[in-house]
Amino acid sequence: MSEHPDPSSASPAPELPGYRHVYSGKVRDLYAPLDPSGAVREDLLLLVASDRISAFDHVLQPAIPDKGAVLTQLSLWWFDQLADLVPNHVVSATEVPDEVRGRAVLVRRLSMLPVECVARAYLTGGGLREYRADGRVSGVQLPGGLVDGSRLPEPVFTPSTKAPAGEHDEPMTYAQVEETIGPDLAAAARDLTIAILARGNEIAAERGILIADTKVEFGVEEGRLILADEVLTPDSSRFWPAEQWEPGHPQPSFDKEFVREWLTSPEAGWDRTGDTPPPVLPEDVVERTRAKYIEAYERLTGRAFVPAG
Ligand code: ATP
Ligand code: MG
Repeated sequence: MSEHPDPSSASPAPELPGYRHVYSGKVRDLYAPLDPSGAVREDLLLLVASDRISAFDHVLQPAIPDKGAVLTQLSLWWFDQLADLVPNHVVSATEVPDEVRGRAVLVRRLSMLPVECVARAYLTGGGLREYRADGRVSGVQLPGGLVDGSRLPEPVFTPSTKAPAGEHDEPMTYAQVEETIGPDLAAAARDLTIAILARGNEIAAERGILIADTKVEFGVEEGRLILADEVLTPDSSRFWPAEQWEPGHPQPSFDKEFVREWLTSPEAGWDRTGDTPPPVLPEDVVERTRAKYIEAYERLTGRAFVPAG
C-alpha cells in the first residue's frame, strides 16, 4: 500500500439493489429509490453516511469505523429535539436496506439552498481570523478584546457558499445571501440557524458540552425551509468539553479538530498548501477519533451507542 492511496477507496459507496446511486459527497452517498416498475423516484433520497472522514477538504485514509452510524443516529436524535423549531427532511430510518441499517435515512428530496448556514456562539477558526483582521465577523461588529474561545455576546450568522466539489467554501455577507435567495428566505435561514445553535447549546450544556459553532443546510418546499443534511454532529459543529473551556488558546474538542491537529503536526510531515494528498492516519489517531465521536454521541443523547441503531 502506498502512503498516499486514492481517497475514493476509503469506504466506497456500496451497490444497493432497488436504489440508484446518484451522488457521493466527501462523506455521504446519495441514492434514489426505484419504484416497483424500476423507475427512479424523484421525491425521495436514501442518504447513507459512510465512515469517510474529511479534513481541509480532503477525504482521508483510512475511514473511521462506525463514524457513519454515529453521525446518522446523532442527527436523528437532534431532529427530534428540534422538531418544534423546524420541520426536517426525515421520512424513515427503518425503511432502509439491511446493508446500511444504522447509517442510512430515507429523506424527502429537496431543492437545497445554495448557502451553507453557519452560526457561531464562540469565537475560533475562520471567525477568529476575520475578527483579528478588522474586529468583525461576517460584517457583524464585535466588542474588542475577544480571544480564541471567547463566548460571543450573542450567536452570529456567518454563512458561506456551497462550493462545488473540489473547491473551498467562501464566506458570504448577509447581503450576498439576500441577493442569492431573496430577503425572506435569507431572514428565515438566519433566524433558524441561530435558533438551532441556541437550542443545541441549551441541551448540550446539561451534558457538559459547548457547541462553539455549527453548519446547517436547508431545503425549500413550497416556500418553507426544511432542515436537511445532518444537524449538530461532530462533522458539522465544534463540540468542546465545558469543564475544560478556557478562552485564550485552542480548546480540546470532540470533533475532527483532533485529526486536523495531527495532520498539521511535524509527525504528519504534510504541507497542506501543496498538491500532495494528506498522509494515512496512524492507527491510534483513527481509534482515538472513533472514541471521540462515540463519546460525543453518548454524552449528548445519554444513550449507549449501538452501531445498527
Ligand atoms: P460535497 O457535495 O461538496 O462533497 P459534502 O462533502 O458536504 O459536499 P456530503 O455531506 O458528503 O457532501 O453529501 C451530502 C449531500 O447531500 C450534500 O450535497 C447535501 O447538500 C445533500 N443533501 C442533504 N440532504 C438532502 C435532501 N434532503 N435533499 C437533497 N439533497 C440533500
Ligand atoms: Mg456535507
